[in-house]
This record gives sequence, C-alpha cells and structure tokens, in this order.
Amino acid sequence: MHLQLDQARSGPLRWRDAVRVPAPDLSRDEALVPGSVDCEGSLTFTGPDFLLQTRLRYRYRLRCDRCLAPYEEDVDLALAFVVTAGGSDGSAAADDAGEGPGARELEPEDLSTLVAVAGAVDLCRLVCEQVELNVPMKPTCDSACRGLCPQCGVDRNRQACNCVAESVDPRWAALEAVRERITDSLT
Ligand SMILES: [Zn+2]
Ligand SMILES: [Zn+2]
Repeated sequence: MHLQLDQARSGPLRWRDAVRVPAPDLSRDEALVPGSVDCEGSLTFTGPDFLLQTRLRYRYRLRCDRCLAPYEEDVDLALAFVVTAGGSDGSAAADDAGEGPGARELEPEDLSTLVAVAGAVDLCRLVCEQVELNVPMKPTCDSACRGLCPQCGVDRNRQACNCVAESVDPRWAALEAVRERITDSLT
C-alpha cells in the first residue's frame, strides 16, 4: 500500500490496513510475525511537509536470551514522522528557504524524516522497517526469568539445581594457592 501525498493536501488522509510482513523480510529469523501488522494512522499536510502518525499493533515470536525458550509478545507502537515531498517536488525546497522563524509548529528534530518517493510513502516498507527496528536486542520472556544454569544447563525457571551452593570456583582455588605462596615468601 502506498500513501499518496497529494491525497492529503485538501485534508488529513486516514487509513487502516493489515500489512503482511513476510518473515524473509526480517533479517533476524527469530522475529517471526505470525499473520499481519494492524496499521492505522493519518497523513496531514503541514506545509511544506507532511506529518505521518501511525499506530502498529502486532504479535511476534522471539527467543528468550536467558532461557532460550520461544515466547510471544504483543506490540503496540505509536510512531510519528515528518514526510518531505523529496526531489520530485522542487517547490518544497523553495518554501523552506522563505519560511520565517516560528512558522513551524512541528519540531522536526524530534521526529524522524521520511523522504517520499515519487510523491508517495511505501507503507509496507515502513512497517517492515519499524517491526525490525523494534525487535529488542536482548529479548527476555519475563523480567524475572532466571535463565539457564551456566554449569549444568538446567532451566532454572522450571527446576532447581545445586550448582551455585556447592561450587568452589577452581579459579579461586588457584588464586588461593598463589596467595599462600606470596605469604610464605614474605615471612
Ligand atoms: Zn526466559
Ligand atoms: Zn546447575
């Protein structure tokens, strides 16, 4: 789906669409999106640019960074962008130059800027990019997830193990031997 900028010049253009995000479009294969992304929003002419506001709702499947178990999560993203008409519309640059201070209500530096291609915004591409951008770096199934035991590999959410209680780290044992030697040489 493409949003035509011209359709928003006479009044805000509103839309609602289900955008399919195919898994191969996502570079991280663990971030599978079952079904589609529910996308709604509005495109408003603010002169010389446009304001695109959108809300994306979807559910995705990730793998927990701590316990490695797959889990699903609902996402509800509210986004806003400044859309510039781009190179195809030469008048945009001219308008910008003649603009006095205070003429803008928007703070463009607070918003990401999208450059329209041939007078339109590719909504599918935008949605795909945003879904990918919002995959967490370290996904966790639950903030209280206890992860896998680094020694025996047991999932500590499901099963207790005795590793922590019984372990005397061999590296500490080696240090202890060094310290005894130093102490001996000093006395
Ligand atoms: Zn987990
Ligand atoms: Zn263990």
